[in-house]
Amino acid sequence: MDNLSSNGSVWDYEVFWNEAVTHLRSEISEQEYQTWFSGMSYAGADDSQVQLNVPSSFYRDQVDQRYRTKLEESLFDLSGQHLRITFEIRRTNGAAAVPPPAEPQILPPQAETPITRAERPRHAQLNPEYRFSRFVEGDGNSFALNAAVAIAKNPGRTYNPCLIYGGVGLGKTHLLQAIGNAVYQEYRDLKVVYVTVETFTNEFIQSIKDKTGHRFKNRYRSADVLLIDDIQFLQGKTETQQELFHTFNALYDANKQMAFSSDRPVSELKSLPDRLINRFERGLNIDLQPPDYETRFAILTQKIDENGVTVPNDVIGLICQNIQSNVRDLEKALTKLTAYSNLVNRTITLDIASRELREFFSAPMNVSLDTIQRVTADYFGLSQNELKGKKRTRAIAFPRHLAMYIARDVTELSTTEIGLEFGGRDHTTVMHACQRVAERKRTDPTLEPVISHLTRTITRRSG
Ligand code: ADP
Ligand code: MG
Repeated sequence: MDNLSSNGSVWDYEVFWNEAVTHLRSEISEQEYQTWFSGMSYAGADDSQVQLNVPSSFYRDQVDQRYRTKLEESLFDLSGQHLRITFEIRRTNGAAAVPPPAEPQILPPQAETPITRAERPRHAQLNPEYRFSRFVEGDGNSFALNAAVAIAKNPGRTYNPCLIYGGVGLGKTHLLQAIGNAVYQEYRDLKVVYVTVETFTNEFIQSIKDKTGHRFKNRYRSADVLLIDDIQFLQGKTETQQELFHTFNALYDANKQMAFSSDRPVSELKSLPDRLINRFERGLNIDLQPPDYETRFAILTQKIDENGVTVPNDVIGLICQNIQSNVRDLEKALTKLTAYSNLVNRTITLDIASRELREFFSAPMNVSLDTIQRVTADYFGLSQNELKGKKRTRAIAFPRHLAMYIARDVTELSTTEIGLEFGGRDHTTVMHACQRVAERKRTDPTLEPVISHLTRTITRRSG
């Protein structure tokens, strides 16, 4: 116990240890608890380990196998630090240790977790499925994927901070967590913290109520890699914004890696203070775009292989043609088909697929940009290509702006996605267009009826 102390530290590790054990005790039988914990005692800790005295190597190995992972996870949750549990074989209080159970088989052996020997047990906040190796690369995501891989190789050194933005179900969470999983496995001394803004907010509020603000701050400010998902939910949460701002500064100054995700570009996050916007815009901002047909096909094929089902290629093609803008929906469609084929025990045909997936194919996106463009172009006597094209004469630019404005209004698409369909324009162009139309609407009373007429025609054609 030379360099370990049981007190004198900012943290009272013994309190964390006792809480972790109490928590575990509520999950196991009293007999189990007595067998393994009554002969063991807390010996001390530093900021990387908690040391325990155990009466024999038999005890050590049993406790190690059965409870170490759980206890370490609890300790992490309580202290915000990765504390390893180490053992010292020593009789406690000079008294005879509780004898080990007569038969080691007294308790049923625990199921082995199916992980390879070299892997660490899973990180408490990360889904182990979200790995780089399971992320299919395509044109729309390769920049984001490669940046994420580079970050995971060199946390804190490249692209710091990094923000990945894009529509729902395009892989933002997958990429953030893949960074986390890779660092967690490769750099075992680095502390990885992943959190959604929702959880961050709830924990923050709770910590104010419980007066445990120090614990909350420590958990986030001691991170080496901090991954925060869905920062669009910071909108309207002033106190949380402030807390995150300070966390950001502390980590940034210490060269710690941060990565964020958002469903839209930072410039479109409303009601965030400039100083926070400015922080997010530092470093690298990358746009995650919907996968093209080939990428969707590859993603679906990978999921099919993983699930071990058989789906004919024409069915995969049908799904990929009809579900275009969201990988999560691709997965859901596959899940539904798999369930169907398992239940009725039939192979999936094109007919079955189009019948069973009808709701996926027609539900979202019933107003397409294509229809918006066609209706607007028609109304102004232009061709759709002119509307999407490069020319910027007034006679074309105004209808183009109007179409973008309507698209923003009647679809769920982001300015990035809209820009893409208008001749590959930047999202800022779409934003400016929308602003201009909105301004003109205020001063020109003839505009409103035009917009309503167009919107009505568009929705009628889409229904
Ligand atoms: P987001 O956070 O952007 O809403 P997710 O990361 O939750 O999206 O992705 C939705 C689902 O699609 C997840 O199951 C994810 O694994 C999967 N997914 C997204 N992009 C890919 C990809 N390129 N390759 C494989 N799976 C993907
Ligand atoms: Mg997500």
